[in-house]
Amino acid sequence: MNRFEIESHREFDHHEVVEVRNSGDLHAIIAVHNTNLGPAVGGCRMYPYSSEADALTDVLRLSRGMTYKSALAGIPLGGGKAVIIGDPRADKSEALLHAMGDFIETLGGRYITAEDSGTGVNDIKVIGERTAFVSGIADNERFGGDPSPITALGVFEGIAASVLYRCKSDLAGIRVGVQGVGNVGYHLVGLLRAAGAIVTVADVNQGNLDRVTADHAVDVVSPDAILSAEVDVLAPCAMGGAINPETIRSIRAGIIAGAANNQLSAREIGADLLDMGILYAPDYVINAGGIIDVYYQRIGERDEALVKRHVAEIGTTLDRIFRISDMERRPTSDVADQMAEAIFSPELQAA
Ligand code: NAD
Repeated sequence: MNRFEIESHREFDHHEVVEVRNSGDLHAIIAVHNTNLGPAVGGCRMYPYSSEADALTDVLRLSRGMTYKSALAGIPLGGGKAVIIGDPRADKSEALLHAMGDFIETLGGRYITAEDSGTGVNDIKVIGERTAFVSGIADNERFGGDPSPITALGVFEGIAASVLYRCKSDLAGIRVGVQGVGNVGYHLVGLLRAAGAIVTVADVNQGNLDRVTADHAVDVVSPDAILSAEVDVLAPCAMGGAINPETIRSIRAGIIAGAANNQLSAREIGADLLDMGILYAPDYVINAGGIIDVYYQRIGERDEALVKRHVAEIGTTLDRIFRISDMERRPTSDVADQMAEAIFSPELQAA
């Protein structure tokens, strides 16, 4: 893939660095979107993309999202992401992870990696044998590793803020549909139930469904039925693109607030949701708990209460976005983008 192909890609948006490496077993791309606020931190995803072009689409979009996410979360980090093309169950090896570490090292610290879909804390530790530019691997019971519980906490705070804004109530008796009860969804269900919400879940993975039903009183519906479930809040916590032209008309919830990245299949969907009167909590705002946690790990801050207070600000930020959206009749997703741009790129705003 040459420079022209990268820079003419529809998802290319002034990315500072896009590097492709295809040698030996490693076929990977690193994208740094913007480092105005600090070094670009973002996960390293491993996925069996069907083509390099698909991987490029993903890494350009995700790295850009990280810039916006960190800016609105109020942390001094930029946006970046890495993708390894391959099946994490079949193709992962120590040699491959070392090669990825060498690749990251070539960027000299402009990109700092962390775990993501298809990689875990142990993989990042192996990558870290070749580069210092890794994060999210602190050896500490609370802070080390899995960011899902803290991401779930942020999503929970965001759902509570959305319900308070729209329904003027707390979560007791509010019906929430959770699409996907993996790492984040599972923890989210626990928090919702503890707050008295009535929870309906769906998942394509029976093991994950069994885990959540063993621990919590929830209703289960089929994966096809969750988006149109009769609920107050729909929480997409599975894959991106859940809200798309095919699914949008069947949504009954008045609020969409969940963990998944890139929930809207296209930017225009934000305007459709506004027209339909559905309150949408922009994905990168509500799911920022993980990156907030990673930031505090980086600076060596171990005060759990401080991290949780920062994560709770997700609710305050959403409330501001909702108010501006209502006042100006603009999609919440556009309002969030503009607020983030004003933080990481004031000159973009002025242009
Ligand atoms: P995960 O893979 O552990 O969980 C996803 C779950 O969704 C799995 O149980 C999977 O079986 C299920 N699923 C997939 N397709 C489905 C479908 N069509 N219908 C119903 N269920 C389906 O991932 P996760 O770590 O829980 O992350 C969930 C989402 O949140 C992802 O989009 C991820 O990018 C995003 N996110 C996660 C974090 C984090 O800290 N883990 C942080 C920010 C954003």
